[in-house]
Amino acid sequence: MWARLQRLQSKLASQGLEGLVVVQPENRRYLSGFSGSEGVLLILTDKAYLCTDFRYVEQAAKQTTGWEIVKVDTAWPEVVKLLWPKDRRKLGFEAQYLSYDGWHKLSQLLPAINLVPTSGLVETLRIQKDEQELALLRQAIALADKGAEFLRTCLSPDRTEKEVALELEFFLRDQGSEGAAFPFIVASGARGSLPHGEPGDKKLRQGELVTIDFGAIYQGYHSDLTRTFSLGPPTPKQEAIYEIVLAAQSKAIACAGPGVRCAEVDQAARDVIASAGYGDFFGHATGHGVGLAIHEAPRLSPRAGTDVLLSGTVVTVEPGIYIPGWGGVRTEDVILITDQGAEVLSQAPKDAFIL
Ligand code: ZN
Ligand code: ZN
Repeated sequence: MWARLQRLQSKLASQGLEGLVVVQPENRRYLSGFSGSEGVLLILTDKAYLCTDFRYVEQAAKQTTGWEIVKVDTAWPEVVKLLWPKDRRKLGFEAQYLSYDGWHKLSQLLPAINLVPTSGLVETLRIQKDEQELALLRQAIALADKGAEFLRTCLSPDRTEKEVALELEFFLRDQGSEGAAFPFIVASGARGSLPHGEPGDKKLRQGELVTIDFGAIYQGYHSDLTRTFSLGPPTPKQEAIYEIVLAAQSKAIACAGPGVRCAEVDQAARDVIASAGYGDFFGHATGHGVGLAIHEAPRLSPRAGTDVLLSGTVVTVEPGIYIPGWGGVRTEDVILITDQGAEVLSQAPKDAFIL
């Protein structure tokens, strides 16, 4: 954890910043290890403070090493004012996350300081996972794999989508997940054309496809897995579309590796679906980074610009085909970019999708 802080500190120095205020919860946890819901980091080039209130002081001391824990009795900008060295002038803040109110207080309390908006300083460090993070991600992914196995026993005609979502969440929690990685998606039959179909009161029926997108959380790290199942023998069209999506996913995984542009991986999946005639029915990005947040950098998207994959990056690969009035298919796995290419971390089978 200390290595993460040191990388940030040298980044600050290289950008001419003398400090950074971190309010974004995942950035705060990534740097300090503190998982409480309230707290602000003040990072100087040679010192690190974690400012939090009475409720969290003890927890913060237990979860962090090397950080000076400062109890906040009033508003945190007043603590920053007390801690800020008088001879320094440039304090960065997270432009996307510091509230206007927080910024306003800081600028009033530290009138001689130059408050510098920054973007993505910590998020770019988070793109390459370290060994400790990979171990936690693997645990979260293993839980989701167990969930996929559980689904094979719990999916049956006449159960509602809501019941399936609830049972799956209960099962994952029972197995050690800290919560649902996001509100689970269960979309059956024609509702499968909704890429983010909220589970409803609709019952599953024999002959339908059902797409389930879910994930677990382990020590703050998320997994994200989608499987589409067929309730009974699929029709030739259901089977054909399932195979196209699998082929698109394999193509994208084969293309992924260090130095490969994110947009190129997205294109690899898109080309397979387009050449099968379903290009208009795949409208979302192919994947996203996953870690302390369920969606984080980088994105595997046509709009990813010059972003490239780096060794240690963990991303989902999740192409789909969604046909209004008919239904849909999506398959999603998590991959790790290695020095050689990509390792698929999810183990849940895809070849036996017929229940
Ligand atoms: Zn997902
Ligand atoms: Zn996803």
